[in-house]
Amino acid sequence: MKEFLEETVHSSKYWVMEGHIASYIPRLATANKKHVGIGVYTVDNQYHSAGDTNIKFSIQSVCKVFSLICALKDSGLEKLLMKVDVEPSGDRFNSLVKLETMQNHRPLNPFINAGAIATIGMIRARNAEERFNKVLQILRDMTNNDNLTYNQEVYESEKETGDTNKAIAYYLKGAGILEENVDDILDTYFKICSMEAGIEDMARAAAVIANDGSIPWNGNQLISKEDTKIVRAIMATSGLYDGSGEFSVKVGIPAKSGVGGCIIGAAPNKMGIATFGPSLNEKGNSIAGIRMFQSLSKEYQLSVF
Ligand code: GLN
Repeated sequence: MKEFLEETVHSSKYWVMEGHIASYIPRLATANKKHVGIGVYTVDNQYHSAGDTNIKFSIQSVCKVFSLICALKDSGLEKLLMKVDVEPSGDRFNSLVKLETMQNHRPLNPFINAGAIATIGMIRARNAEERFNKVLQILRDMTNNDNLTYNQEVYESEKETGDTNKAIAYYLKGAGILEENVDDILDTYFKICSMEAGIEDMARAAAVIANDGSIPWNGNQLISKEDTKIVRAIMATSGLYDGSGEFSVKVGIPAKSGVGGCIIGAAPNKMGIATFGPSLNEKGNSIAGIRMFQSLSKEYQLSVF
């Protein structure tokens, strides 16, 4: 597999100059378009990687998987569905356009910004710190890495430049979707977007999702099988925003992307996959990442469809 991964990294590099780097905050703008890496963590506990695998990156919207897991654990699907739907949006990740027109003003799914903000409101906690710590802890448990945390500089920039997210959160509060303190919820949202991790960390997290919520390296059932199935289904339908349909057709692996350049994917009962490549397409998804997922899916027949 190592050889195949090396080859995949190499051929995906051909496309990266076409894209753009997320530049809405200074720290992300310094990323190198040419960096490309991949890690695969199998459910039988083996790890393979290739390319630039030692870079720590901002996980950005991949964090929405972890906030969803926490909300499902704390509130359950039925309660969550009262605040956020599970339908693909077909709009950009930070779009506000359907909030006003949808019935009950529910955001369309937990993986667009509006849906993630509503989902964070369903994590039970006494304050913002406790809520953030719950998400961080699930990330640490799913990666076996207690050193992971958020980047202060990224967090401060997210907060400073996050006007659209603030507009979304205040709208949701006005519409009765958010019941908690808006600033507390936004604080958690900005912090979890700023969490940093590496390729192996994210491949491990994806492997837990691929392995029905059971941790491959110690057998503990961290997330219920039912919740894991829900997470994978939402990843398959909404994980790459308005690029989710094409990704399902061409790759067919439940996945989640972030503008930091990471994509995680969970091939059920087989492997967790994490790719990194900060050069993004017009939808905010990693160009090299999509290419690598495509070739891996083809080679190992990973499409769930
Ligand atoms: N922090 C980013 C935002 O809220 C995350 C978006 C993303 O990764 N797509 O806009």
